[in-house]
Amino acid sequence: MNPGQRVALVGAGISGLCSALALSRKGFSVDVFERDIPPPDGGADRAFFDWNRRGAAQFRHPHAFLGLMCSLLEERYPDLLDDFFAAGARKVTFDQMVPPHLQDQYHPEPGDEKLWVLMCRRATMETIFRRYVEKQDNIRIVNTTYVTGIQTERHNDQISITGLELTDRQADNKKSIFQADIYVDATGRASKFSQWLTAAGAAIEEEREDAEIVYYTRHYQLKPGVDEPNRHQEEPSAGDVGYMKYGVFPGDSGHFALIICLPNAEAQLRQAVKDGDRFDSICMQIPGLVPWIAKDKAEATTPPFGIGEIHAVWRSFIKDEQPQALNFFAVGDASARTNPLYGRGCSTGILHAHILADTLHDYTDPVIRALEFQQQTTKKIRPIYDASLSEDKNGIRRAKAVMKGEQRDRADSLKKWFGYAFGDALAAAARYEINVFRGVMRTVNLVEKPGFFLQDRKIRRTIFRYMLRGRKKNGQARVQRGPNRNDMLDSLVSD
Ligand SMILES: Cc1cc2nc3c(=O)[nH]c(=O)nc-3n(C[C@H](O)[C@H](O)[C@H](O)COP(=O)(O)OP(=O)(O)OC[C@H]3O[C@@H](n4cnc5c(N)ncnc54)[C@H](O)[C@@H]3O)c2cc1C
Repeated sequence: MNPGQRVALVGAGISGLCSALALSRKGFSVDVFERDIPPPDGGADRAFFDWNRRGAAQFRHPHAFLGLMCSLLEERYPDLLDDFFAAGARKVTFDQMVPPHLQDQYHPEPGDEKLWVLMCRRATMETIFRRYVEKQDNIRIVNTTYVTGIQTERHNDQISITGLELTDRQADNKKSIFQADIYVDATGRASKFSQWLTAAGAAIEEEREDAEIVYYTRHYQLKPGVDEPNRHQEEPSAGDVGYMKYGVFPGDSGHFALIICLPNAEAQLRQAVKDGDRFDSICMQIPGLVPWIAKDKAEATTPPFGIGEIHAVWRSFIKDEQPQALNFFAVGDASARTNPLYGRGCSTGILHAHILADTLHDYTDPVIRALEFQQQTTKKIRPIYDASLSEDKNGIRRAKAVMKGEQRDRADSLKKWFGYAFGDALAAAARYEINVFRGVMRTVNLVEKPGFFLQDRKIRRTIFRYMLRGRKKNGQARVQRGPNRNDMLDSLVSD
């Protein structure tokens, strides 16, 4: 226990805010340095439309807030959830996610209470989170202050951070040094700490894999008097048509966003979705999206915009069992980043924040703190990272097959055939069997290790039973209705 130890935390994004909160509850005092301005006064719309948030490039892309994050916040900060709901965020519980055709199989089970999601724009979530954190006595947030470097010292071959170089953007970029007992990097996907530490002589190992996709978003608002389409409409509002993934993200106050995710190689479609009219006309060819964006239903509130560099990144700060930087901890995207398609980053960031606070609270020795933090990070976050990476690799393989006009999952060995057949059967069983649906939702919401539900014998038996139906029939559960790739490309030419 170290009450009174001072933490310098860089970045007031999701993981930074949550780390500051978790550390403050353990008795640490926290100074948070953030390069951007704070959220503007006023409600959710002002934050969404007016907040200049260049430090978080994904800020205006829609975010799903999954069960792991929601249940952690509910357990530890129930009053924060009340603030989210007061700002228009909505709670969708597991029983509400169960589709009508599975309702008669559904009986509540222990653990279902963790399977809920929060629906609102990230701007709403971040603004409310920020205001809540600002009210805490032992947290100070310093805005418009860039951390532009670190000071280090080397002792017995061991590097420690001894200070942060701050650049005040509102005072002629005046530089100063800030010193604390502990330094936390929560600067997200563009973190420079590992470069700075490497320059100081540390051996930071980075794994990086390109998901080979681009992600496009457009925001809309339902027209006055129009109700949100039924979550359980016959055609799904999120899915995969082989060459393109799509999804609706309902937000707050009638706002919603639509995303299109394309393989890097789909040059023609990538060009087309940059234009608002063409973005809409592509979406209008997907039956599940029509009830959302038909002309009489909603109006676009932004042009389409994209984000690339969708990489899975894992950084390790221990080499040969030696911490590479003492008194330094990286949380959230600065440490582990996954493909946004799975909506996992905020959940893992919040989990990571609590791993950090628990480690710093439970241990005092800097070496043990570093080792324990990396060990817990590997134990609790690495399985999520690995599962995401494996999904990325499957996605890349399938996209290549679709572009060549081949079957998506053609197996060239018995082992692969079995794997694909099992995957098809799982997708089909999740559609028609409540226990499999629940298991998949537990993985999707990260409330247990990905795929853990497959250890349940009853679930495995059900999936094997579905395998007997054959791949052709089961495979239909994976791909949603929509034009095939050639028809979609032809429609772009005739547009
Ligand atoms: C397109 C897209 C969609 C996504 N969708 C989802 C989703 O649906 N669900 C989900 O859970 N996750 C999603 N994610 C991931 C999620 O956005 C991140 O995992 C999450 O924001 C990570 O939080 P963080 O605090 O680590 O980083 P960020 O939230 O990016 O915050 C980093 C902060 O550090 C500040 N900063 C950076 N450098 C400095 C510096 N040198 N000095 C001072 N301040 C600095 C930035 O201004 C920013 O405030 C998505 C990501 C992308 C790219």
